Amino acid sequence: MRAILTNHLLILLLGIVLSACSPTSETVHETRFMMGTLVDFTVYDANTKNAAMAIKAAADEMQRIENLFTIYGDQNNSVKIFNNAKAGTDIKLPSEIDALLTRSMQIEQKSDGAFNPALGSLNKLWGFSQPTPPTSPPPAEEIEQIVSSSSHCLQQRADGWSRTGKSCQLDFGAIAKGYALEQGMKVLKLHGIEHAIINAGGDIRVGGSHGKRPWQIGIRHPRQPGQVIATLKISGDKSVVTSGDYERFYLYKGKRYHHILDPRLGMPASRSQSATVIADDATTADGWSTALFVMGADGLETIEKMGMDAILVDADGTIHTTKNIESRLQLSLSPPMLRTSD
Ligand code: FAD
Ligand code: MG
Repeated sequence: MRAILTNHLLILLLGIVLSACSPTSETVHETRFMMGTLVDFTVYDANTKNAAMAIKAAADEMQRIENLFTIYGDQNNSVKIFNNAKAGTDIKLPSEIDALLTRSMQIEQKSDGAFNPALGSLNKLWGFSQPTPPTSPPPAEEIEQIVSSSSHCLQQRADGWSRTGKSCQLDFGAIAKGYALEQGMKVLKLHGIEHAIINAGGDIRVGGSHGKRPWQIGIRHPRQPGQVIATLKISGDKSVVTSGDYERFYLYKGKRYHHILDPRLGMPASRSQSATVIADDATTADGWSTALFVMGADGLETIEKMGMDAILVDADGTIHTTKNIESRLQLSLSPPMLRTSD
């Protein structure tokens, strides 16, 4: 399935950054494999040598972030130390992890528990990111046991964090990719790059513009590969991040099981097919795209109140957007997509 997944993501990359499909002499383009996905760098800069150096530095920074936050592989890090520590023990986390955990807890609170940074055990039980992909759901009693012990199971102490039980395990899979995108763009800017786009498997951080044109981003159709539901033209510091049930999934007895879980039920969230959040900052957009996916269309009001925009395809395939999205963004919905609210 990993090979299938990689091909699938390649199609996604080709389809989604519409402006980057025809590179010019001023466009430097590179792709790396990180965080279980293809990360695509496009820099629009007259000085191609500087652009190549900047991309290398940005990719190194994103790799550093993967190593810092990953719960996979053999390499040790503080997240794994925390996840293996005795319950009740206070662990001081490095400041970057501490800061991302604090932001994650804020999203958990504002989303009424639709987002939960302590889903490591549940995620491993479902197995969507394991080397051998799953083909059927885990036993209900194992899900139930983890759900009952992973809600509000993290405790912040004066000097660190502790967990209330063994099943309470950190998992930054829903937010660290956004943080890596944000840091990658920061490094590009430190190298003097003003116009660039970083695309991590469809999660996009944009800076500047594509020459005289804005960057053009296609939002993928969750059920028809290669088709888009909407096109966005954006420039400046913006992030467009999508959580979808088509990324990592299998069908079992005719039902779709995927990797975005409702923490309160321990089951794949069932209200959405895809949730796209548009925000300035990629960390925020990543965390909230997962939260919104779980919340479904009811979550759009929360997104609006925080000054962000979103496009949600609900379980029936109907498109919902935040109010007045078109007055703030250059958005075209692809006909014949239906739309119920704005
Ligand atoms: P998102 O919606 O952004 O995130 C979904 C992921 O977040 C799930 O896979 C799960 O990990 C977690 N999650 C699910 N539901 C919730 C919820 N309600 N609240 C909070 N979190 C939730 N993949 C590999 O196959 N191999 C790897 O070695 C690997 N390493 C990675 C290392 C890092 C640092 C990161 C950030 C990701 C890595 N991944 C890897 C990918 C990862 O396993 C997820 O599949 C990926 O981050 C999902 O991103 P998304 O945009 O599809 O979905
Ligand atoms: Mg996310």
